[in-house]
Amino acid sequence: VQRLAETRQLALTDELTGLGNRRLFLRSLQHELSVTEREDRPRLAVLMVDLDRFKEVNDAFGHPVGDELLGQLGPRLRQTLRSTDVLARLGGDEFAVLLRHADSDYAIDVARRMSDVLRQPFALRQVSVHVGASVGIALAPEHGTDTDELLRCADVAMYRAKAGHTAVAVYDSSADTSRERLRLVEDLRDAIDNGSLTLHYQPQVDLRTGSVPSVEALLRWTHPERGAISPVEFIPLAEEARLMRPLTRLVLDRALGQCAQWLRRGTPVAVGVNLSATNLLDGDLPEQVQELLTIHGLPSALLILEITESTLMADPVLAHQVVCRLHALGVSIAVDDFGTGFSSLAYLRELPVDQLKLDRTFVAGLGKTASGRDTAIASSALSLGHALGMSVVAEGVEEPATLATLSDLGFDVAQGFYLGHPVPPDALHLGGRKELLAAEGASERIG
Ligand code: C2E
Ligand code: MG
Ligand code: MG
Repeated sequence: VQRLAETRQLALTDELTGLGNRRLFLRSLQHELSVTEREDRPRLAVLMVDLDRFKEVNDAFGHPVGDELLGQLGPRLRQTLRSTDVLARLGGDEFAVLLRHADSDYAIDVARRMSDVLRQPFALRQVSVHVGASVGIALAPEHGTDTDELLRCADVAMYRAKAGHTAVAVYDSSADTSRERLRLVEDLRDAIDNGSLTLHYQPQVDLRTGSVPSVEALLRWTHPERGAISPVEFIPLAEEARLMRPLTRLVLDRALGQCAQWLRRGTPVAVGVNLSATNLLDGDLPEQVQELLTIHGLPSALLILEITESTLMADPVLAHQVVCRLHALGVSIAVDDFGTGFSSLAYLRELPVDQLKLDRTFVAGLGKTASGRDTAIASSALSLGHALGMSVVAEGVEEPATLATLSDLGFDVAQGFYLGHPVPPDALHLGGRKELLAAEGASERIG
């Protein structure tokens, strides 16, 4: 009998901290909810606690130190609670608390105290560390009446606390976008099949000749109810929902189809397509690209694939292989948003890159007063790219003065609203932009 009791105890205990585990927490919550239902007793609260810099501690000092920290957490949190409250470790650095007979004021009070005690430094064997925590609060019955719903709401609140750096947040249904996001993912799935996604094209202008040697394809989504949704919003959504593969295939297919049309009409122009992180984890991408080039009867030199540092970071080794195989097809590789990453120089050494696209945050200020630093950065990026045999593109040119500065610095290509907005293909003007260059006194460069 004692054995059995021990085994049961183990099954409900978190080994590392000696606190209850997820199973114990769910069971207690379930029980409490059923009691609450039957006897119409006062409300209860679920608190979700997540450390703010636990990953950094683990990365910097190793897992044994991380474990030691987690071990010290239980006693600290316990001292903020009554004996009837349930404290459990759900996993990782995530802890949950069940407060019986708690209203919102009491729950907030406990959450604040927890956040305060966790802000005190932890004296570990080798180091002293400061971590801090974010606490999300869900109340029953207001926010939910079953375990799943309450945990989800506490989780949503915890993320809001974290994002807002407020330490504590109570669930707020009006700020809960997770349902809406789910619906949007479903709509996006439909959109990939039913054609409410389109491509716009933005010209890239050769600063010496004023011609348009290439355009960038940019995805547009017109949602049936919400209207235009920016790729900045839906691309991350597609990444999360594993829709990037079909989405990129669709973009490549359309962009190459359009490119083939321009070629047949006698106005050959290369097309740039943006890739996302998951695309570079897809070992089939080079074959897919080759297949689409063949289907559309296009030389590979007319395709430019844009990658960013973040697209490379998910799995640098695999990404490196995929990029090399793409390059081997004869496709050009461009590094997008250059300058905004953390290790831009490292990958320039490793990867077969043909083009640098200097991020618009470094470009927009050029030609304005006090743009000395921007000018230094732009001209250094230019020299670096040229020294490595790459062409250098300036993104985000919005004003004539910026264009003139870029011309003077010797930039190859520029892109931006001043030279042309992204537009549907039939609205695109592929003729030169000589008049714009000339207007700024850069005419001496035009051949
Ligand atoms: P990006 O690849 O850096 O694209 C350039 C963005 O800058 C585009 O925003 C473009 O409209 C905008 N832009 C161009 N000129 C100017 C300017 O002069 N001033 C300012 N302020 N902005 C300018 P957009 O179309 O909203 O796209 C945003 C991002 O979404 C893109 O950044 C790219 O990362 C991503 N994206 C767009 N289409 C695709 C796609 O088909 N696949 C993937 N994976 N990502 C895409
Ligand atoms: Mg781009
Ligand atoms: Mg960019």
